[in-house]
Amino acid sequence: MKRYGLLISLLVICSGCIAAAPAVIEGYQAYSLGKGGVMAVEAMKPIEYKEEMAIGGALAIQVFNRFGGPYQNKTLQTYVTTLGQALVNVSDRPGINYYFAILNTEEPNAFATPGGYVFLSRGLLKLLRNEAELAAVLGHEIAHVSHRHALRALERNKKLAGLGSLTIGAMGADPELFNKVIEEAAENLFSHGLDKDFEYEADEVGTDYAFRLGYHPEGLKNFLTVLNARSGHESIFWSTHPSPQDRLNNLSQKMNAFNSGLSYPVFAAEYTQQVQGQL
Ligand SMILES: [Zn+2]
Repeated sequence: MKRYGLLISLLVICSGCIAAAPAVIEGYQAYSLGKGGVMAVEAMKPIEYKEEMAIGGALAIQVFNRFGGPYQNKTLQTYVTTLGQALVNVSDRPGINYYFAILNTEEPNAFATPGGYVFLSRGLLKLLRNEAELAAVLGHEIAHVSHRHALRALERNKKLAGLGSLTIGAMGADPELFNKVIEEAAENLFSHGLDKDFEYEADEVGTDYAFRLGYHPEGLKNFLTVLNARSGHESIFWSTHPSPQDRLNNLSQKMNAFNSGLSYPVFAAEYTQQVQGQL
């Protein structure tokens, strides 16, 4: 089975697990709001991995639906997955399964949904010029997963609304609650974007992951410079991320930490060889 076929199968299975959730999670303790709203707020627990997978899987299907579906190219898929997995291995959260997919759209964009689903568009691969830039962009997306950015945004909003934990039990018993969670997460990911601080952190952490793997540390910086020069070609990066200039300003304060890697390679020829003719 081709990898993207595998990915879609996994996503479909994952979306199905919500409908089947009440039966599957027998014994799993659904959170009760209790008698007092204040207690409920205080008792809010972090979203656990099985909830993360369910939320991330449902969002991943939305990514395919909204952004051109999977781009079916085995060479590119293998290339991106191999590099992505190598980055995961040096990341702060290597212990979960990650899935990498290429979206069949000319618009440059990239997403990560909770649970380890990472997407890059064909248009983005066209904009990148070398492997160091690709590693840094993948690193940025992996950082969103490893640092649980989308989940933390959800947890904070649920807390403000006085809701209890988002358990599989609670969401499976109340499909409306699950739909609301997905709607809110989709709004964050596809329209409004995450908090600036999360984006800046993903830039720094993603740069670090690429650096740990031995790439020249200025991959993201150089890619943001390219993005910054594309005024008039704004893509979803502009509506869901701080401006490239703001991201460059933030990153520049951190770049000294990577000075020891300035002689590391960018692998431009390797990138061209792998990607040229495949897009
Ligand atoms: Zn981001």
